[in-house]
Amino acid sequence: ETWKATPKDLQKHAMSEPIPPEKTIFRDGKTGATLSFGRLYRDALTVASSLTDGVLNLRPAPLSASDPKVNRGAIISPVVLLHLPNCLPFVTLAYGVLASGLTLTAANPVLTPQEIAHILTLSQPAAIVTTASGLSSFQQAFKLLTPELQAQLGYPTKGNVFLVNPDADDYGASALSLVQPVTNLGGWTVSDWKVLLSPNSKPFTPPKYTGSEDALRAAMIFWSSGTSGKSKGVILTHRAIGSALIAVWHASTLGENERLVGLPPFYHIFGWANVLMVGVAFGATVTTVSKFDPVTYLKIAQESRATHLHFSPPIAVLLAKSPLVDGFNLSSVRGCTSGGAPLATSVIEQVYKRLGILIKIGYGLSETGGATQQQSMTWEHLKSQLGSCGPAYPATELMIRSVETGKPVNVGEEGEVLIRSVCCTISYLNNPEATAESFTEDGWFCTGDIGKLDPEGNLYITDRLKELIKVKGFQVSPAELEDSLCASPLVQDAGVTSVYHQDHATEYPRAYVVPFDKEVLKGGKKADEFAHALRRHVEGKHAPYKWIRGGFVLVDAVPKSPAGKILRRLLKDCKGHNVSVY
Ligand code: AMP
Repeated sequence: ETWKATPKDLQKHAMSEPIPPEKTIFRDGKTGATLSFGRLYRDALTVASSLTDGVLNLRPAPLSASDPKVNRGAIISPVVLLHLPNCLPFVTLAYGVLASGLTLTAANPVLTPQEIAHILTLSQPAAIVTTASGLSSFQQAFKLLTPELQAQLGYPTKGNVFLVNPDADDYGASALSLVQPVTNLGGWTVSDWKVLLSPNSKPFTPPKYTGSEDALRAAMIFWSSGTSGKSKGVILTHRAIGSALIAVWHASTLGENERLVGLPPFYHIFGWANVLMVGVAFGATVTTVSKFDPVTYLKIAQESRATHLHFSPPIAVLLAKSPLVDGFNLSSVRGCTSGGAPLATSVIEQVYKRLGILIKIGYGLSETGGATQQQSMTWEHLKSQLGSCGPAYPATELMIRSVETGKPVNVGEEGEVLIRSVCCTISYLNNPEATAESFTEDGWFCTGDIGKLDPEGNLYITDRLKELIKVKGFQVSPAELEDSLCASPLVQDAGVTSVYHQDHATEYPRAYVVPFDKEVLKGGKKADEFAHALRRHVEGKHAPYKWIRGGFVLVDAVPKSPAGKILRRLLKDCKGHNVSVY
């Protein structure tokens, strides 16, 4: 309803050939296994059939489940949780869940059991798909849940846990009927995910949502801490996801026969929207990377003759500076998109000088359904607006609002970036307070980022208002780390903020800690032991990207407002004894 196709869209559409079913659209960078467009289509429908009427009997929630007072009317169907690295089964399963009308969520496979327990509690998935190593994290996470939730989810017994082997060198739909469910794995009933591809499944026709139903049906739940606190479920409806895809498709400079590298994680909005969905929409070939290391990545880019790369800023620095790059031929690469965190303009210039490759910047959030803008792709253009993220996509409204007055500012002035578009989240899952705080009365989403516009409408992100640390594009919540640190018997108080590491082109968390034992403040061996004990404490609770790599500062007090809120901006100026533990 909100989206009107422009003449450019129609022309693009008229020009594009249907994607041939035999075309390879995903290739596993490690095993070489391939997935064709036709097979993805068929297998996704089979997965949908198996989930809803076959292996499991999960049914999408009825329209009557919409209650404007709960999640602003979003209809949450039984949730299927994917806990996988980038791999071919991820793609099939994701499209299968979307086609089924069930609700999809995905989690970073490096999360610790405590972090998984948080996601299980919030999303209460009816089925999970994980790897063999992920399974043990789930088994530990399950023990941390309330007995009621354990009984309701019933993973050990209901047969609703599926395993993927991301290293298998066949994607293997043909051998499926031979695969029997694996039972009693550590007491859990677990099946190979391929049982969801059973050739005996009934033919499946995806439901069509008419009227405004697609604006209410939750397609996906991403995970974001929003402006503060622990991670929250970001509900994106079918309409939001579909519209975001059309918006990217419209603005994208990709053409036919693109070859992409699937490095950004598919469980994060960047990899999901810009690589997984756009890759399929364009009929591109995406070579997946399940685990990053520079040599493998450059090798995949070279061997797949990649035409466009998507990454977060540290990879841009790799391209700009690393001697490793000289050993690879990247001449097929026409352009790159950097997103998820700020990128210094000097890096963009260095890459252009060194390799003749253009890097454009995309800006967006999980909550906005992905990018809200992107730059265009000529060096002339980029040069004139270096550091900007380009103009907003069509059908995306953007406003810069003064933090002091709450009124729109003039061109060139800084303020909070507000977005209003059909692609935005409808609500945080079961979190009315966070939802109310994030939207204005007239429907603008408050991003918590500070930026400004130039006269051409290009957006420049200049700062961040919200309490969020971006480590290589991944979200780290200072509040979550503060909670963990304060849970240590050694710690009286703690505040966490970020520090920027120039060479790694990323922020890292830095903790300002008040020890109970004031001797620690004098430095020396005691301070080192204290910091290392906290390092181990944090490592036991959190995924590696959340570790305190920005160091510990041992202080006698954490600055707070009269209401007891940590004054994070003052935190950075606190003087104390610094200990680096990595
Ligand atoms: P996520 O939901 O994980 O994608 O995180 C969204 C946040 O990442 C935004 O609110 C920004 O703070 C940050 N971000 C994303 N893209 C950019 C960019 N191009 N420049 C600066 N910050 C960015």
